[in-house]
Amino acid sequence: MKFQIQFYLLIVVTGVLVGAEARPTATLIITNATIYTVDKQRPKADAIAVIGHRIVAVGSSAEIHLWRGPETKVINAGGKLVLPGFNDSHVHFITGGAQLDQVDLKDAGTPQEFAKRIAAQVGKTAKGEWILGGDWDETKWPKPQLPTKELVDVETGDTPIFVNRYDGHESLANSAAMKLAGVNAKTPDVPGGVIDRDARGNPTGIFKDAAQDLINKVIRPMSHERRLRAARRALEHAVSQGVTSVQHMNPEFADIAVYSELAEKGELTARIYAVPMETNWQDQANIGIRHSWGSAYLRLGAVKGFADGSLGSGTAYMFEPFADQPRNHGLLSDEMNPPSAMLARLMQADAAGLQLRIHAIGDRAIAMILDIFSDIEKEHGYHDQRFTIEHAQHMAEKNFDRFAKLHVIASMQPYHAIDDGRWAEKRLGHLRARYSYAWRSFLDHHVPLAFGTDWPVAPLNPMLGLYAAVTRATLDGMNPRGWIPEEKITLSEAVEAYTMGSAFAEFQENEKGSITPGKLADMVILSDNIFDLKPEAIRNARVKTTILGGKVVYGEQ
Ligand SMILES: [Zn+2]
Repeated sequence: MKFQIQFYLLIVVTGVLVGAEARPTATLIITNATIYTVDKQRPKADAIAVIGHRIVAVGSSAEIHLWRGPETKVINAGGKLVLPGFNDSHVHFITGGAQLDQVDLKDAGTPQEFAKRIAAQVGKTAKGEWILGGDWDETKWPKPQLPTKELVDVETGDTPIFVNRYDGHESLANSAAMKLAGVNAKTPDVPGGVIDRDARGNPTGIFKDAAQDLINKVIRPMSHERRLRAARRALEHAVSQGVTSVQHMNPEFADIAVYSELAEKGELTARIYAVPMETNWQDQANIGIRHSWGSAYLRLGAVKGFADGSLGSGTAYMFEPFADQPRNHGLLSDEMNPPSAMLARLMQADAAGLQLRIHAIGDRAIAMILDIFSDIEKEHGYHDQRFTIEHAQHMAEKNFDRFAKLHVIASMQPYHAIDDGRWAEKRLGHLRARYSYAWRSFLDHHVPLAFGTDWPVAPLNPMLGLYAAVTRATLDGMNPRGWIPEEKITLSEAVEAYTMGSAFAEFQENEKGSITPGKLADMVILSDNIFDLKPEAIRNARVKTTILGGKVVYGEQ
């Protein structure tokens, strides 16, 4: 109880209370709980005392009872499991919130169903508005082939649509959208992108990576009201999933303005680390913002970049061509054109004290970003800058050591492994698949892991991520013992990556990530003790109560 003593002294010294016998009383006590703290000093406990926003004591129910006063709110957890709140290290929060109201194509299992859902959305869409979102996945269709404009044109008429594949690396436009964008057979491809064309050279409606901008640039930006609504929907969803912190990758500045407004109103029920694009690094640097700058609710100070595309779209940048596409070894992003330009920007961003968080999925893209990080470290020295590679999906074996040596964090999304794992081996070939979503190998090389979802690419629910990390059982049921089972990790390791690991990735390991006296009181109470469940049942556990900064924000009041 070292902290209690310090706390006492602090109060006596500052004269808030006079007399050593006067113990401050807790505002909240959780008692009769099974607490897994993610704190190695004290991994287990049964009760927690909170004063205001922070945890003041963790211990037995009897010890914690001493903190109780007449005003103390007491939650009897009935023996349920309490964990630190989940911290999702990679989300697209406003897009996710907006998508809760958009057409959902993710589980449309046939092209007919795809077209039917879009037709239904047309009925709900005001004239002139776009139909966006979707998250379609053609690999779930009986005959997997990319959708085309012909599939939807009849249903959509004048209503422009631009619906994305679930990985965000390709989207389908209808004829109305292409007309608004002035795209036709004569439109040339853009660097870092592809316009899919039929045998006669006409665009099919599919736009890959940077080519998506041809359509995106004519879509009206979200109004402030819609953005605010999307943020509120996302926050509502996050608390229901036990997610108390999120790291929002490449937000628009207007998204941050909305967070700022909600923070002022006291409506942020999740803590946000906003990570805007590296191409705009000067905006943050000019006003002196450095890594993890801000309040407990809203922080800035990192930049997000892209090195390549995705495996699903065949745009992950690989050393060798894809097994099923012998002439394609992926695509570098526009930002890497040329890589020296990326290096120059990131070098300056690092000098300005901004954290670098770079998307790299293919083995060659990962290697190139490691090269860039290495050049930066040579120039500026190691100064705990916490370089992060987002996704780090398909590793070349030789690069684990470099990852570790450069202190790079692997920010990964375990759900992708059980989703992409259905078909990834076909694309990569057996040998190269071995170090895909390689959590065990990262941990064995002492590379810090941070877990998240990439929501809305994958569901925000952390139980699915934990389930994926410990089972690696693909969604199609084809790998009940795990796809590449060597890369499974334990439940404790997965929980740690999803709490302390993510906190570390945002420089907040002293503020959150474990149930420790002095830290912010962000916690969840679960329906089941996931440590007692069979691994395959973890995904069915639910969040009963979510507590943020000592306040119940979801569930039992
Ligand atoms: Zn992402």
